[in-house]
Amino acid sequence: MPSTAVMWFRNDLRLEMNPAWASAAGYAGTVIPLVVLDTTLLRSVGDFRRNLYLANVDRLASDLSELGATLSIAAGNPRQLVPQICDETDAGVLVFNRTASGFGRARDNAIAKHLTCETKTFWGTLVSEPGTVLTGAGTLSKVFTPFYNRWIKTAWPDSPNVVSQPAFGSIPRNLQADLPSYDAPPIEPGVVGAERALSAWLESVDDYRETRDLPAVEGTSQLSAHLRFGTISPRHIYDVVGTTSPGREAFIRQLAWRDWYAHMLLQTPDMVNSAVKPEYDNVAWLDDPDGLTAWQQGRTGYPIVDAGMRQLKETGWMHNRVRMITGSFLVKNLLIDWREGERWFRSLLLDAEPSQNVGNWQWVAGTGTDAAPYFRVFNPVTQSRKFDASGGYIRRWVPELKDLDAKSIHAPWECAPLDLAANGVILGDTYPEPMIDHAFARERVLAAYKKALGK
Ligand code: FAD
Repeated sequence: MPSTAVMWFRNDLRLEMNPAWASAAGYAGTVIPLVVLDTTLLRSVGDFRRNLYLANVDRLASDLSELGATLSIAAGNPRQLVPQICDETDAGVLVFNRTASGFGRARDNAIAKHLTCETKTFWGTLVSEPGTVLTGAGTLSKVFTPFYNRWIKTAWPDSPNVVSQPAFGSIPRNLQADLPSYDAPPIEPGVVGAERALSAWLESVDDYRETRDLPAVEGTSQLSAHLRFGTISPRHIYDVVGTTSPGREAFIRQLAWRDWYAHMLLQTPDMVNSAVKPEYDNVAWLDDPDGLTAWQQGRTGYPIVDAGMRQLKETGWMHNRVRMITGSFLVKNLLIDWREGERWFRSLLLDAEPSQNVGNWQWVAGTGTDAAPYFRVFNPVTQSRKFDASGGYIRRWVPELKDLDAKSIHAPWECAPLDLAANGVILGDTYPEPMIDHAFARERVLAAYKKALGK
């Protein structure tokens, strides 16, 4: 009778409030904690995310070693390795937390076909399990607010923890791999890093409603990359933060957006490639490689856009308000397909997750089910004046404009060249001219969308 449970850690790199781990550890027999490094996937992700992932795996290995366990690491193609590991360890069960990503689900389904043991799966990366927050008609709401109204009223069952330590095993030596070397990630990794970020956030969360849209201040939690790799449980965040102030409520609402987009992706897997509202796939996007490069490199001549794109490139993170501004600029000012922006963000963001990235890009492009209306075209200068009034965020990421005052910094082309030169700025030389006129771009995109929608 096989008595080994293989616990396959994926984007749930923690031991606390991890339902799959709690289940595996409760198995009567030996538990093998396993990470499979998908070498093809690892090669394709940006340095920031790869370093953070590897550092998180390293921390998980340390946390396990404190329990007297060894994290088994294998490297290669999980489709082939996971069934092989289960066979060679004579596993009775493979346990893991599920994913909403289409790539991950296809992989898991392919693996299931080659397994000779049982599988047990859980949802350890969301507050709400998909299928638990439904309309009266038993469907997933296509609009966020009704979803949220049900979500927030639901009493989630406690996430189970390990009751008693099991006996630990490991995979055969011939299947073991070393953890590749990695550079220090941009944020403190592991459960310790996540808990520290949460503790720091508890000092500020009550002000979230006032600060969340101001990129110059640390007015958001910066927990997204920890959630991405599961070094913290969203249920734990929910429990610890609660909803006892308007700031806390507004913050917790964001976790519901995260759940909603994951549920949405599970229900609409094609949304990674196609507009959720299919008529929007008729928009005649421009093929503009130079425009795309200027946007990617933070050289558009619109300071708030350039600040955001440079923050992304230099740190692997970008403030949410600025993600909306830069996203809108790509899609609506440059008329470039939202999928190009999604791809660029995915390559650089520490927190990149298909459900969240695609869901938010479709929101920005107006192509999602509950999205910004197509005719709302952010004016980057107005946004900049409103949300970065003092210009502090721009000064930090676009240092060549740092000496401009708060009035001039949002639209340097509106200043007299002599005034600019007095502050070391020569448009077209030290900093680009704006690459497109906003009023022209606005008319152009509205015409393109209307044509696509047959209006
Ligand atoms: P906080 O404001 O502190 O929010 C707390 C948590 O709520 C976040 O960590 C995140 O998990 C969740 N959350 C916040 N805003 C959103 C939102 N709009 N949609 C869904 N969940 C949200 N978030 C990702 O996690 N991965 C992505 O790949 C991603 N891509 C995005 C692309 C675009 C174009 C836009 C506009 C937004 C994207 N977001 C993405 C959402 C959001 O920008 C980030 O979650 C947020 O900036 C992370 O910072 P924070 O942890 O300080 O957020």
